[in-house]
Parts: sequence; structure tokens; C-alpha cells
Amino acid sequence: MAHIKLFIPGPIEVSEKTLRAFATPMVGHRSKEFQALYAEIKPRLQELFVTKQPVFVSTTSAWGVMEGAIRNLVSKKVLNCMSGAFSDKWFDVAKKCGKAAEAYQVEWGQPILAEEIDKRLATGEFDAITLIHNETSTGTMNPLWEIAAVLRKYPDVQFIVDVVSSFSAMNIPFDELGIDVLLAGTQKALAMPAGACLFAVSEKAFAKAATIKDRGYYLDFLEFRKNAESDMTPTTPSISHFYALRSKLDDFFTEGLENRYARHLANAKLARAWALDRGFELFPAAGYESVSLTCVKNTRNVDIPKVNAHLKKTYSCVIDGGYGKIKGTTFRLSHMGDESTENIRLLLEWMDDAIKVAGA
Ligand SMILES: *Cc1c(COP(=O)(O)O)cnc(C)c1O
Repeated sequence: MAHIKLFIPGPIEVSEKTLRAFATPMVGHRSKEFQALYAEIKPRLQELFVTKQPVFVSTTSAWGVMEGAIRNLVSKKVLNCMSGAFSDKWFDVAKKCGKAAEAYQVEWGQPILAEEIDKRLATGEFDAITLIHNETSTGTMNPLWEIAAVLRKYPDVQFIVDVVSSFSAMNIPFDELGIDVLLAGTQKALAMPAGACLFAVSEKAFAKAATIKDRGYYLDFLEFRKNAESDMTPTTPSISHFYALRSKLDDFFTEGLENRYARHLANAKLARAWALDRGFELFPAAGYESVSLTCVKNTRNVDIPKVNAHLKKTYSCVIDGGYGKIKGTTFRLSHMGDESTENIRLLLEWMDDAIKVAGA
């Protein structure tokens, strides 16, 4: 069967090299070989997160750590910042964990604002906040630096940040931003197979977790820390993901992180300019466009299933036809991961052809 290349915002295309690394034969997860593998990865993960804190690999999808952060860190009440499908769901997940939770909801495509967070945290009701930096469903990127500045006023509030679709697409320095949990699933910007999530935890968050008795076992941050001290994981991980991660980190540092970030920005600018030039509008509010995907308002009413049928047949690739309640009225182009600027240029040419064929 012909391989269909994914220009959807997750899971995204995974390189042959990464897939080959993923297929490395197993070693025992309590063996010296595994410890050596993890020990090799750890310092480079810290460099990527720009942190002195330990960085862990949970071989759950991102939601494992998103739920785990709630279980480990919330005893009073969590403020869930909601601006799209993923961030809206985090509120439901907090409630399903039996936690008191409050919604700070904005219209999809609008940013989460630092001053609005400030107002809510000033009540003193909260001991945690969840934020999705790059809301993948709407292609909107929230002002993380401004929000982090507000959080500094609230040292008793745990700052939990999802960077699933922006991590490694731009610099997100964990220590400098004062984040308490930063998490990134592997199948988005990291361009690895689905099923794992990288995360860093602050000392403040470890201290808080130690006070929470019913934080569970599987995603207990203190278990992760204890095991990582001897280069191990609490339970049998997906060892394949560790091999893939080692290979991927080689790629990142060979390209150079600054080059990787610059490439993502260049790709984003190309995709945004293409959309505007072809008479579309961008879905996110101006100034808050994502660096890793472009969510386009389908103002020309293009038949996206037809576009995708043509892309698939002629160019062996697909884009995304919108997510959740904005499916059909938007479409999304992913330009995260390994995509060169040349690849994105080609994709946009193919889009022109497919839109013509779809009759718009
Ligand atoms: C895809 C995505 C998730 C969910 O990840 P799973 O791997 O399905 O658990 C969470 N947050 C964001 C921002 C995402 O893009």
C-alpha cells in the first residue's frame, strides 16, 4: 500500500530513520543496557527543556501526564484555561479526577490573557492552573511569557503547561519560565511515533506531590524521580520510544536547536502568507497564530474532503479538515516536525492544484 504522508497536526509524519530506531530489538527494562540508553538521553532532554530539573518519559500518550499532573498537584482547586478542544477537555478530566475545577473559557481562536488569569488567581482559591500553550484544534498560540510573568506573583499555584504541539518548534525554557510541569506528547512537534510523553517537573511540584496522598501510582511524579535517579522508569516503558528518542535527539542537535526553531517559523510564515494570498482568513486572532500549524478559515467554502481525495490520489498526502466544532469551517495544515521549507512550498502548490480540482 502506498504510504500517505501526513500533513495533519498529529500524529505527524515520522522519518524512516526514526522508525528504524523505533524497531531496535528489545532489552530488559531493568538491564544495564536500558540504563545506559536512558542515561545517554537524559542530559540532552535537559538541554532541550533548558532545565536542571529531571526530564521524564512517560510511555502514555499526553493525556496520561495531563491527568497525572492533576492527580499529583491539585488539592484545593484548579483553574483550567480553555480555548479549544484539548484545553476544554482538561476541565472535564480534572472533574473526573474528583477535583474542584473552574473554567476560564474564551472563544475558540481567541487567546488566554494574562490579566484574566491574574484576576482569577487573586481570589486565592486556586493551587494549580492548566494551560495549553499551542491549542492544536484552533492553531492558536497563547502568550506563554506574559502568563508566566503573572504566575510569578502566585508561588503557591502550580503552573501546568501542555506544549504537545509546540515543543521543539520553538524555545520553551522550563526553568526561566518558572513552569512546574511541562509536557509534550511524542506524535506532534517531536515527530515521533504516538504513545509517549516527555515531561519536566519543578522542585515546587515535587514538594506539593509529596503532600498529596491519593496521587495514585502509575503517574506518581515521585516514583518517576526515584527511578530516574538510577536511569530507570517506574514500570516497563515502551523501550522502542527510548530508542526513537535517542535517534530524534541526535537529529535535533545535528540540525541545531536554533535552526530547528527558525525553520518552524519560516514554514509558518509561508503557510500563513499562502492562506491570505489565496483569499482565506486565518482562524486564530491576529498575533496569536501557531508556529507549528496553520488553522485556516474556510471562507471560500472549499470542499475539503474533495481536496484530500485529490491530495491522496495524486500526491500521496493528506491535510486535516478541521477539528471538533470547527470541522468543515476550517482546515489545518501542519508544518511541524521534520518538514523542510521546500516540502511546505510543495504542499502549498499541491493545495492550489487540489483546490482547483475540488472546484473552488
Ligand atoms: C494531541 C494533543 C493532546 C492529546 O494527546 P494524546 O496523545 O491524544 O493524549 C493534548 N494536547 C494537545 C495540545 C494536543 O495537540
